[in-house]
Amino acid sequence: MIATDFWDAVGNTPLIRLRRASEETGCEILGKAEFMNPGGSVKDRAAIGILGEAVKRGLLTPFQPGTVVEGTAGNTGIGLALAANARGWKSVIVVPRTQSQEKLDFLRMIGADLRLVDPKPLADPNHYVNYSRRLAEEMGAVWANQFGNSANATAHEMTTGVEIWEQTGGKIDAFTCSCGTGGTLHGTARALKAKKPGVKIVLADPHGSGLYSWVKNGTVSAEGNSITEGIGQASKVPGVLEGAPIDDAVRISDAEALEQCFSLLKEEGLSVGGSAGLNVAAAIRVARDLGPGHRVVTVLCDGGARYQSKLFNPDFLRERNLPVPSWLA
Ligand code: PMP
Repeated sequence: MIATDFWDAVGNTPLIRLRRASEETGCEILGKAEFMNPGGSVKDRAAIGILGEAVKRGLLTPFQPGTVVEGTAGNTGIGLALAANARGWKSVIVVPRTQSQEKLDFLRMIGADLRLVDPKPLADPNHYVNYSRRLAEEMGAVWANQFGNSANATAHEMTTGVEIWEQTGGKIDAFTCSCGTGGTLHGTARALKAKKPGVKIVLADPHGSGLYSWVKNGTVSAEGNSITEGIGQASKVPGVLEGAPIDDAVRISDAEALEQCFSLLKEEGLSVGGSAGLNVAAAIRVARDLGPGHRVVTVLCDGGARYQSKLFNPDFLRERNLPVPSWLA
């Protein structure tokens, strides 16, 4: 198959059988290899979904001057900037300076107009999301608004969810996934539930996020923190996540997530980031709950190289009392 361009090369990622997780649980645990998207993450799907919708609405025209602005933990910005490059548009990407150096460097490398901001609570006017909305207004540019734009979840409903359904031939008992905007979880869940209402949808949440308690008892309440990037919401349920058909939630520690990152890398040759490790740890938890013989699908959101300086840096890990991969110690 020949893809016509970046946009056309997004999606249709393999579903990979995760050997250790499957053996440990007696279930089949499958990871959707989103790190294989051309921009390196699951967020390429949201990026082209959002930009495609902006084209439909006449806000952007291919190869005519145009600018997209977004606040992001990095991956959405990477997807948007590359998709914009492929259509002749500019991108202005607002990122908290706490995100991994690799993501920031990559955004600069691909020509995004990068604006680094200090981390702030969501209610602060200079929180990266609020900052990006203001900037888009001032510039008269398109604001991608991944947290509130329904095109984000729709992209996953039309692609991620449909692909998983087809790749599993409908043999799927549960889907588990963490949530940044909730686009992946909500869209995929909607597509799977439409085909098979009994599929169990489980939110995977890091410490420091209030979404676990929101699913469990309806209140958003957070404690602790996490080194994972791009997932968890401390104080508010993103608009895109609202109404998602979620059956249950599990909370996963950084140590558990890292254990999966390290084992996937060294034992299975799969280099993934922290949210993917957390998702796999959650899939193991869900599989144990269901018992042997079931099939659980999760998402390998992005690749480990994006976090070399953090998750795979012994000094960074030791400072935080986190496990260090034996081959790097
Ligand atoms: N993992 C990573 C590494 C991400 O960057 C993101 C998006 N911020 C997610 C997971 C969550 O995806 P979504 O926004 O669709 O919930």
